[in-house]
Amino acid sequence: MFKPEKYNFKSFKEKVWLSSPTMHGEELKYMTEAYVSNWMSTVGANVDEVERLAAEYTGVKYAVALSSGTAALHLAVKSAGIEAYGMPALPHGALEGKYVFCSDMTFDATVNPVVYEGGIPVFIDTDYETWNMDPVSLRKAFEIYPDVKIVVMAHLYGTPGNMEEINQIIKEHHAILVEDAAESLGAVYKGRQTGTFGKYNVISFNGNKIITGSSGGCFLTNDLEAANKVRKWSTQSRENAPWYQHEELGYNYRMSNVIAGVVRGQFPYLKDHIRQKRRIYERYKEGLEGLPVSMNPIPDSCKPNYWLSCILIDEEAMCRTVYGEKEVLYRAEKGKSCPAEILEAIRSINAEGRPIWKPMHMQPIYRMHPFIIRDGNGRAGSNAYIEGNVSDIGMDIFRRGLCLPSDNKMAGDQQERIIEIIRACFE
Ligand SMILES: *Cc1c(COP(=O)(O)O)cnc(C)c1O
Repeated sequence: MFKPEKYNFKSFKEKVWLSSPTMHGEELKYMTEAYVSNWMSTVGANVDEVERLAAEYTGVKYAVALSSGTAALHLAVKSAGIEAYGMPALPHGALEGKYVFCSDMTFDATVNPVVYEGGIPVFIDTDYETWNMDPVSLRKAFEIYPDVKIVVMAHLYGTPGNMEEINQIIKEHHAILVEDAAESLGAVYKGRQTGTFGKYNVISFNGNKIITGSSGGCFLTNDLEAANKVRKWSTQSRENAPWYQHEELGYNYRMSNVIAGVVRGQFPYLKDHIRQKRRIYERYKEGLEGLPVSMNPIPDSCKPNYWLSCILIDEEAMCRTVYGEKEVLYRAEKGKSCPAEILEAIRSINAEGRPIWKPMHMQPIYRMHPFIIRDGNGRAGSNAYIEGNVSDIGMDIFRRGLCLPSDNKMAGDQQERIIEIIRACFE
């Protein structure tokens, strides 16, 4: 139970963010180069260099620089759809009416592109070991929907999913993996970078990611033909002709050469950012020892990028909480706490935490969609948590978990104060 009057914690003068951009100076140099050379466009040296750096760092053959991670996911999903089902006749999407297996506990940007292409997301429950797509539930999903051809999975908070098992299941069913590595750039699973496991993969340079261009993203693949296709679609699908000739639907999805200058300046600092975020995670882990909480998991098989540090409160230490559609109510209780209370306490000293991604099967927009848990069909459509009524792992992590301030510019003593306030919540 948090009693602010008892502690009198001082507020931070400058807000401590969840995860904000960290610039180093070189970004401005490359942006200025774009300006001075007048390559104020979606082509230029910065764009070329971002594509080279992204491919080189992750270890794929080809990267295509795009306006956002979401745009990259759209074209990745479209590529997978055309590969699985052929080129759609206009005005249909590549996935018209087709089921697609998707991560359930993730940002909605992971799954919206499936709908852009006319597909129907089928949500797959999460596992406690990685907080990502649960291989057991995925296997179950293929039993129920054996014809599904595409799996879209995200690596949450910078920790890779169980790629070995997931890829094995996908292989057995001759399906295509689209990997959403928007949050996990630089994370490694069994020696291999995330963003390289799927046939079509995506990273993001949105403002709060591990490195940023303010916005932007890349499509990653080892398939030259796919890379060329995506590049063509992203530039309005111009054919090679003396005039504007169009045979396919096009998009305006290219990365700006100015933004690419920012990304280019950030890439050399990716490893530093990971080191700083790792330090933050470890400091929380040490500082919160003895409390009835655990950190977001790190399986032995991987080296995360530690993008966000999160905690999960032990069931026994949860005070009673009820989630409505847009509000949460809890009953403060001695010795116990809950995400809402901790988030409030953190906010009270001018720092920013965040709830865990609310699972897609609990979202009004998607709650009528199929949802698969280990035992088979999950309870899609469930929106409000009622005591003792948690039916799946994603909902449980959402209910008991939260993201802590994880900004790599947060000072050690600031983090200490945040740790103290979390401790105070459990008194
Ligand atoms: C940020 C994010 C995206 C989208 O990336 P944008 O560049 O913001 O469009 C997609 N998936 C996940 C899991 C993300 O966190």
